[in-house]
Amino acid sequence: MQKVLVSACLLGSRVRYDAGSLTASSEILDRWIGEGRVVSVCPEVMAGMSIPRPAAEIAGGDGTRVLAGRARVIEETGGEVTEAFRAGAEMALALCRRHAIRVAVLAEKSPSCGSREIYAGDFSGRRLPGMGVTTALLTAQGIAVFSQHEIAAAQRALSLAAS
Ligand code: SF4
Repeated sequence: MQKVLVSACLLGSRVRYDAGSLTASSEILDRWIGEGRVVSVCPEVMAGMSIPRPAAEIAGGDGTRVLAGRARVIEETGGEVTEAFRAGAEMALALCRRHAIRVAVLAEKSPSCGSREIYAGDFSGRRLPGMGVTTALLTAQGIAVFSQHEIAAAQRALSLAAS
C-alpha cells in the first residue's frame, strides 16, 4: 500500500510553535488514516525543537535557498535555527525513504512544511511564494508535496503512484 506523509499538526498533534495544531477536516484524510496509510511527521520536533518554541521564518529566500546555503531560518527572538530545519528536512526524507513514500500533504505557510507560500522573513505577516525547507528537500527528491488545501489532488497523485 502506498503511504502518505502528513504534517503532524494537520492530524491534530499540538506540535506547532505555539503548541497548537492545525487539524485538517477531510474525508479523504480520514479514509487514509483508516487504511493505515498515513505516516505522521513534524520535522521541527524531530530535529529536537521544543514545544512551544519561538516563531521562525526564512530570511533571504525560501527553503530551496536554505538548502543551497543562501538563506537562513531565524527566530522572532533573534536566534538562528537553520541547521535544525535542515536536520528536520533530512529526517523527513529518511522517513519517506523508509516507507517508499512518493506523496506528502504538509501544512501550508510553515517555514518547514509550506509548499506554495511562506512568511516573508521579517515577521510582518507578509507572505511570499515559496517552499519551506522540508518541502524543498522532498520536492527535489521527486516526492509530490501538496498542502492541506489540495488533498483531492494528493489523492490523484497517490492513485498514479500506485498504478
Ligand atoms: S514543522 Fe510542519 S508538522 Fe511541525 S508544526 Fe510546523 S507545519 Fe506542523
